Amino acid sequence: MRSVIVIGGGISGLAAAWELRGKAEVTVLEAGDRVGGKLRTSVLAGTPVDEGAESIMALRPEAVRLAEEVGLGESLCDPAPAPVTFWTRDALRPLPAGHVMGIPADPAALDGTGLLSPEGLARLVQEEAIPASPALAEGADINIAGYLVPRIGREAVDRLVEPLLGGIYAGRTDRLSLRSAMPFLAPAAASGDSLLAWLRRRRESRPPATGTRPSVVRGIVGGTGRLPRAVAAASGARVLTHSTALALERVPGGGWRVHVATGRGPTTLDADALIIALPAHAAATLLGPHSPAAQAELDGVRHAGSAVITMAFARSRQGGPSPGLNGFLVPPVDGRTIKAATILSHKWPWQGADAPSKLILRASVGRVSEEHLIGLDDRRLIGLAQRELAHALGPLGEPLESRVTRWPQGLPQYEVGHADRVAAIRDAIGMLPGVEVCGALYEGVGVAACVATGRAAAERSLEGR
Ligand SMILES: Cc1cc2nc3c(=O)[nH]c(=O)nc-3n(C[C@H](O)[C@H](O)[C@H](O)COP(=O)(O)OP(=O)(O)OC[C@H]3O[C@@H](n4cnc5c(N)ncnc54)[C@H](O)[C@@H]3O)c2cc1C
Repeated sequence: MRSVIVIGGGISGLAAAWELRGKAEVTVLEAGDRVGGKLRTSVLAGTPVDEGAESIMALRPEAVRLAEEVGLGESLCDPAPAPVTFWTRDALRPLPAGHVMGIPADPAALDGTGLLSPEGLARLVQEEAIPASPALAEGADINIAGYLVPRIGREAVDRLVEPLLGGIYAGRTDRLSLRSAMPFLAPAAASGDSLLAWLRRRRESRPPATGTRPSVVRGIVGGTGRLPRAVAAASGARVLTHSTALALERVPGGGWRVHVATGRGPTTLDADALIIALPAHAAATLLGPHSPAAQAELDGVRHAGSAVITMAFARSRQGGPSPGLNGFLVPPVDGRTIKAATILSHKWPWQGADAPSKLILRASVGRVSEEHLIGLDDRRLIGLAQRELAHALGPLGEPLESRVTRWPQGLPQYEVGHADRVAAIRDAIGMLPGVEVCGALYEGVGVAACVATGRAAAERSLEGR
């Protein structure tokens, strides 16, 4: 049977191991003391809390399907229904339904919300009167602000789109690629026509929803950290934690040798094939001696670091956040420190039921270029988050327990030209027989996209280039 070493025990590498089950002899090398990477669940104030990703995309099927395949189907759950809400202009303001990444197909829906100033709203409404802009050529790219600002105005971009991209990518519209970070808008840009009219046509062309609207994301009762653990166990792979891949060596006659640092000293492992499921900087270090071209591209990927501050408060009978609120996003122009907050006790009914006397909240800080924030010490971060949460939500009291989780280089930035960069990396890797790559860097940062890249890498690996 073909032997495969998967380097990196995050969800991408584990999805690859799962895909290879029964078809290859698989070893997963994970540098940390546990599998899961950015899917990590720990216990705070007696209840499980997710320190990294806390939801999985349900609009695309890969992560939900994997959870079902590894026996977590009955633990999948929906968030409590609640609108996207912004903390902006000193109030919590829900975004009316019918938007695409913050852009409302029907600007009249924003009337009375206070999300935009009268001038900002008037500018948005004018969009359809703006003459067609030059169409984005096939294969060309532009930053998101570069496309959106001339169409819907600076204020709508700053206040409606920027906070969503800050939440998903920890990124900025003036750097992120339209083609890679908002690919669903690429056809509108290619047409050069009114964006709002295009969004309405897109909505009308879809079959009318029947029954209750499906959730955009889903969760796992007990925390998303259960997913990697379940995948690792069900895959049957040999999973080695405390095992850092330090260097790769080609074995004469075919195959690869991996030099590994383990808790018990250095060792080597041989396999017919490798799947490198690592963040860009770690992949660059390993691949550099074999492919300077891949290394150069991987080293060129910018990352954003962020920190998640999770807090448990005693639930008070009066005050506190209103029941229909799952959290909020903060536009950078509002000048706050936190960029988002999630009321975990509201968003996930299982969490509320598990700790009924507590209010579990998490706030996050750090968009690209705000990395200094994650360098603040825990007390400062907890104090900042506590003050701003109380300002937005009303008095919360002192936290019973808090935890700060830092994710330096947590999210790769899909900047302008990202698709070409990924193509160049794949071309360079294609020159290394038996090597495949997968991870958050390639076709989407979300868990579902990571699962898809992991499984696809495994399929290619089995084809045995
Ligand atoms: C704070 C935060 C919140 C997020 N929230 C969501 C969300 O709600 N929903 C969503 O869909 N996505 C979310 N994401 C994105 C998503 O969680 C990640 O993109 C995804 O989990 C990345 O998985 P991965 O396997 O590609 O990489 P990673 O999770 O980074 O895994 C890579 C693994 O490789 C290991 N490793 C590194 N170097 C070596 C080496 N040399 N040898 C061996 N092992 C090594 C690391 O220890 C790590 O475990 C979030 C990300 C962050 C940072």
